[in-house]
Amino acid sequence: MHDPRQRAWLEVNPSAVEANTKAIKQVLSKGCELMAVVKADGYGHGAETVARAALRGGASDLGVATLDEGIQLRQASIDAPILLLGNLSSPEELSACLDWRLMPTLSTLKQAMLCQDLAEGTGSKFKVHLKVDTGMTRLGCDMKEVFSIVNTIQRFSNLNLKGVYSHLSMADGERYGKSERITSEQKRRFESVLEMLPPMKKEFCVHIANSAGTLRDPSLHYDMVRVGLALYGHSPIKDLELDLSLKPALGVKARVAFIRDVPSGVGVSYGHTFVTQRSSRLAVVGIGYADGVSRALSGQISALVNGKFLPQVGSITMDQLMLDITDYPDLKVGTIVTMLGQDGDQLISPKQWSDVSGSIPWEVLCGFKNRLPRIVI
Ligand SMILES: *Cc1c(COP(=O)(O)O)cnc(C)c1O
Repeated sequence: MHDPRQRAWLEVNPSAVEANTKAIKQVLSKGCELMAVVKADGYGHGAETVARAALRGGASDLGVATLDEGIQLRQASIDAPILLLGNLSSPEELSACLDWRLMPTLSTLKQAMLCQDLAEGTGSKFKVHLKVDTGMTRLGCDMKEVFSIVNTIQRFSNLNLKGVYSHLSMADGERYGKSERITSEQKRRFESVLEMLPPMKKEFCVHIANSAGTLRDPSLHYDMVRVGLALYGHSPIKDLELDLSLKPALGVKARVAFIRDVPSGVGVSYGHTFVTQRSSRLAVVGIGYADGVSRALSGQISALVNGKFLPQVGSITMDQLMLDITDYPDLKVGTIVTMLGQDGDQLISPKQWSDVSGSIPWEVLCGFKNRLPRIVI
């Protein structure tokens, strides 16, 4: 096998995920569990790697989006409870869920009845979570249906209700104003639902907080929090009050593939959106938008070499991008540059990219493509 670090690659640091999990667990009240959300292949870090790291750090449960993501973790012999956050409606999918001991998210009575039927005669109990919509307007039953669905599920002999949950729509917004208002309103609605349930409570856990909810307000923790972004070392909120010293777990590295010296006045890359203003030395780096460095970042980001920021110039192309290294002429073909992540004391965060491209850190992290080999360090 040749060295995968030849052109461009991802470096994943599972100890960072483990440390982040521990740090987040420390701010949870006693008895509050942490579900590590490892959907989308662990936000691009590799689901199995980060799932194991989070479990070592004290996570009790795992969350994924799709059936296949859940099955992959089971095939990797991961035994922790796994919740599927997406919606499954076909009998085939739900029955696979039962076979693989994955917990589906239910939003309707119909799904509950289907699960009850599918588990009949199998000898296994179908563990499920019920989702209620409190203002995200995506999955989940209406608030007024919760009482009767919970009642029915609890009467069904083949079902085991493990959780009742909801999802916040705006917890990552500004600390004051609209996002505060909407988040409190969702909390109020969630609690009004919970108040309807006391006689049967305790048998299942209730949860609503994502990373932002977890970090912004301990009163959103309840029995469990579902943490994604923060696990990977990135805070979803700017003016975070808790200083957790989260550690970024991903590095995006690439090598200089070619170096050229050009005079002043030369157009660089597609469209000549950059024209040299002086005699310049350019480094061509072997990574492009087909690897996950969005073309929308063209000319607005830097790469790190030995703690120095080198400006990226011209359009980012499918497989390559150019750096202006005139001020750092000692780079060589083969020199490793950091496109994202830590280099010495310096850091390029997904937020820096997403602020430029009009995206969000979540999308930046899951945007890295299979062409980049992933190296666990
Ligand atoms: C993705 C997801 C999360 C995790 O969100 P982060 O903001 O990454 O912490 C939690 N809950 C649900 C339902 C999700 O889909």
